Amino acid sequence: MFKNSSIHIIASFILAMTLSLLCMRFVYDSNVEANQKIFSKETERQSILLSLLIEKDIDFIGAGADFYQSGSKQDWQQFPLFANSLISRSDSLISLQWMQKVEEQDIEQHIKEVQQVFPSFAIFTVPKNKPKKYGYVFKNHEPIYVATDIYPRDEKNLSVLGFYSSRERFKRVLDEAIRTKNPSISDKVRLLQDSLVSGAPKTGMLVYHPVFTADQKTLKGIMIGGLRVANYFDKLVASTSLGQSAVIKICDTGFDAEDDPVMFQSSNWDEFNGLILSNDIKIENRVWNIEYKSKHYISDSQRLSLLWMFIGGIILSTLVAVITYMVTRDKKRIERLLEVRTEELRYMAMHDDLTGLLNRRSMTTVLNQCIDEKKSFALICFDIDNFKDINDTYGHPEGDAVLLHMTKLMSDLLADSASIIRLGGDEFAVILEIKDLAHLSLVATNIHQVIEESPTLTSNIIIEQTISLGAVLWKGEAKEVLLKLADQALYYSKERGRNQVTVRG
Ligand code: GH3
Ligand code: MG
Repeated sequence: MFKNSSIHIIASFILAMTLSLLCMRFVYDSNVEANQKIFSKETERQSILLSLLIEKDIDFIGAGADFYQSGSKQDWQQFPLFANSLISRSDSLISLQWMQKVEEQDIEQHIKEVQQVFPSFAIFTVPKNKPKKYGYVFKNHEPIYVATDIYPRDEKNLSVLGFYSSRERFKRVLDEAIRTKNPSISDKVRLLQDSLVSGAPKTGMLVYHPVFTADQKTLKGIMIGGLRVANYFDKLVASTSLGQSAVIKICDTGFDAEDDPVMFQSSNWDEFNGLILSNDIKIENRVWNIEYKSKHYISDSQRLSLLWMFIGGIILSTLVAVITYMVTRDKKRIERLLEVRTEELRYMAMHDDLTGLLNRRSMTTVLNQCIDEKKSFALICFDIDNFKDINDTYGHPEGDAVLLHMTKLMSDLLADSASIIRLGGDEFAVILEIKDLAHLSLVATNIHQVIEESPTLTSNIIIEQTISLGAVLWKGEAKEVLLKLADQALYYSKERGRNQVTVRG
């Protein structure tokens, strides 16, 4: 029973807790979904912002290109002034470099012209995996695109003057510029301004902006803008609502980027472990894949709400368990009460109200049992003589007192194994194990004698009582026959003038 109710209490707790946890799961999923939507919108905004920033710088470089396209050769002396106004308006544009196209036969003339501004000007190239080489190196008489002016004119930048590229890669840039007439962007490069050492970090990229003749048919040169790209990314996440809660990683998927595609990665990228979203932005000829990672799947306040939900779940489940315990306890109490009542009813059905002795219904049970077990037993029946007169003389309560007194006398006299029965009114029976007729006679006489010699004492009167008794030893006859024989023996005692004992073998 106890085990059963414990199982009920534990089961109700588990059930309520499971429901709470399911609710929590639902809220968690909804939060993650909502966060994902917000995060997605924000990352979209970030990506647009990034491309706008870069496009703005490309426009500045384009303005530099326009300077060489539309101005006359004399005006080109003003380049530092113009470049300064452009560079000062951007955080990331750090240099502008004019690579003028010079045909092989014009090289000498070009060098002379430039030397008027930069006296030590000389053309050179750096062939792949070979040392710096001065002079014109091409065999097929192709033109060179030579660094003719640069801004800012600091020492490092000025060391680039005279440089022309003899590499395949630059040729591809030229082909692309001629074909599309649009600017193109390099992959990640080590900026000259940072270091010339090959192991130094690559933090920039170059924008090649073609400059055509007015009829757009012939390429005059290339305006190269140096961009410090890290500047864009450093500010990007910090300057928006993502703040400290997100990190970014930007990979270049464009031409030549395979060897080192990561343009930028937040320093704490690996520490974050939340939602990841990615989108692509296209900047001129390149496509960048931007991955955003948020710190957590849910915010701290959402986590706190879930914690409260969990605590609420425990409280609720405990409450449910307590209620189950109370209901089970009440049920058990009612069951116990019912058992007691049933037991009382069973007792009442088998016993006499006044004396508490077995009643007539019980006698049948006792007799059946004795007969079934084939015991050597006897049935003694007796009836109070003239009990009506006792009632009439002393009153009904006194009559009851006589019945109770006789009950006590017999209970004291007979062994516990004997069944004492009140058959009804003033008639009693005793069923007891008896060895033989002599033994029965002795017991019957004893009962008769004790009752006769022990009058009932009430508070102020003494009531003498006698009985007429009939006793029969069972000899294998049916219950009804035995009852009838005992009744006849009793009747015989009455007939003989009452206060008699009749024993039948
Ligand atoms: P007899 O010698 O022939 O037995 O005469 P009797 O007066 O005893 O006659 P009977 O046995 O027929 O009478 C029984 C009486 O017992 C009748 C009834 O009023 C009385 N009686 C029955 N039950 C109770 C009871 O519970 N209490 C009291 N006080 N009297 C009862
Ligand atoms: Mg009587």
